[in-house]
Amino acid sequence: MGTVENPVASAAADVQLVQEVTDGFRLVIDALKLNGIDTIFGLPGIPITDLTRKAQAAGMRVISFRHEQNAGYAASIAGFMTQKPGICLTVSAPGFLNGLTALANATTNCFPMILVSGSSEREIVDLQQGDYEEMDQLAIAKPLAKAAFRVLHAEDIGVGVARAIRAAVSGRPGGVYLDLPAKLFPQTLDAEAGKKSLIRVVDPAPRQIPAPDAVQRALELLKSAKRPLIVLGKGAAYAQADADIRALIERTGMPYLPMSMAKGLLPDTHPQCASAARSFVLPEADVVMLIGARLNWLLSHGKGKTWGGKAPKDWGGQKFIQIDISPQEADSNVRIDAPVVGDIGSCVSRLLAGIGSNWAKPPAEWLSAVAERKSKNIAKMAETLAKNPMPMNFHSALAVVRDIVKANPEAYLVNEGANALDFTRSIVDMYQPRKRLDVGTWGVMGVGMGFSVAAAVVSGQPVIAIEGDSAFGFSGMEVETICRYNLPVCVVILNNNGVYRGDEVNPTGGRDPAPLVFVKDARYEKLMEAFGGVGVHATTPAELRKAMEEAIRSRKPTLINAVIDETAGTESGRITSLNPSAKKK
Ligand code: ADP
Repeated sequence: MGTVENPVASAAADVQLVQEVTDGFRLVIDALKLNGIDTIFGLPGIPITDLTRKAQAAGMRVISFRHEQNAGYAASIAGFMTQKPGICLTVSAPGFLNGLTALANATTNCFPMILVSGSSEREIVDLQQGDYEEMDQLAIAKPLAKAAFRVLHAEDIGVGVARAIRAAVSGRPGGVYLDLPAKLFPQTLDAEAGKKSLIRVVDPAPRQIPAPDAVQRALELLKSAKRPLIVLGKGAAYAQADADIRALIERTGMPYLPMSMAKGLLPDTHPQCASAARSFVLPEADVVMLIGARLNWLLSHGKGKTWGGKAPKDWGGQKFIQIDISPQEADSNVRIDAPVVGDIGSCVSRLLAGIGSNWAKPPAEWLSAVAERKSKNIAKMAETLAKNPMPMNFHSALAVVRDIVKANPEAYLVNEGANALDFTRSIVDMYQPRKRLDVGTWGVMGVGMGFSVAAAVVSGQPVIAIEGDSAFGFSGMEVETICRYNLPVCVVILNNNGVYRGDEVNPTGGRDPAPLVFVKDARYEKLMEAFGGVGVHATTPAELRKAMEEAIRSRKPTLINAVIDETAGTESGRITSLNPSAKKK
């Protein structure tokens, strides 16, 4: 006798069956959520379109960009702000490649991020049979990332995501690539087995405690200093050890110099801040303690004119203490006399313990020499800022920005350009940690809108983006993204009609403009208006001030086209010396 099927029971079994199965899409989302990752920056397309839909349906924030590079920059700066890896999700080959610049930039800057890219079928890619968007993405990503992984089976998604998270945030943070072939997503797995395959990463960025003798060596060197100096880098900002770093500086009484993205770790107006005396303190200091800062090109490699000696025989005048999580960083440019390897929080707290409460302040001659130089330079700058030329120049426009940032210290300041970068960095004081987000170690152009979107999405705070007109061009289309998500971003374009400046002419008198100039008097503000945001054309400091105040107050997406003198600006800004053509002149 055959069995008679009970249609109701069979439907129930089907439902149960559906409920008991999970798939690759779901597992990727569950793995991220399990690890506290709630935001994806990306751009949908084959094969990850459904992943973006399903992630949003599962309650994640999915921020869709117009170009993957900007999504990548957003992810990387979200990583810097939160100490959690920022996620950038892209399609295969071209989308992956578009995201790769941001991944490499993240690795260079020690920002934790994970570039997750869909990819084509391994079997076809490896035999080079011409698959849709065929590319061996893993091999290409490897040299640019801190680590790179590929997941082929749904049951390995948990491990893949866990390894990517650990690699991104542990030790020296960096960019990680996670390759997810199209075939992975529809793979199904028993739901219970799927759940068990996921990993909640325990202690993803373990503290690294410095060796006591290394701390002792550093303390002794500090004690011996006659002209000590502390340099704070963006590693110090990233570490979020703000109170201890402040205590270290205040208890030792030493002058300190914040690198660009460390500005605001203590308010730039702090009496010990030596930014305004940079070119004096670097060559004059005898012991320099680097905290999360590398002696790369931004610090003239610790030698040469900036440090007081032109020839190799003069190098080595300073003694260096370097606090860094990477044991390989010391001696990369000059001798490090006291390397302290560990995470900044642990290192600084141990140094503080050794310093105690009655550490002798540095000699008065040193402090007064720094103070004297500082006040001279500050007075000189105040004089320049007080001028009101017509058309505006960088200084008169940035005097306004400086006031607005002072009045709104919680706002993020995104900054890119050449002159627009250099002038903003030196003119606009920061008052809170991790509020200044800029071009970083590479001096890369194009981070502006991606950083702005991420800063607004992650923090909910207003964002002011000070952009050179050239820099803005790299990511300008993302003003649509800013409008779509209705983000409180105020973009200020310091518009001088070109790269560096806008007055070059084609020496042949031919039909093409000079390579460095743009359309004159371009109305960038209309771009923002095109998507429903506020556009303002500002030709005076008063107009700029009014527009910025209104943008902060209203929290509406705003773009201010601040027209400045097209002859303002020098080639390559302050790094003219790196420009081979300028070297010849
Ligand atoms: P800047 O450009 O501001 O001078 P760098 O990017 O050159 O800063 O240097 C940052 C340094 O900080 C890197 O060498 C990196 O290894 C280090 N670093 C990053 N995070 C930590 C941390 N949590 N603890 C210790 N060092 C860190």
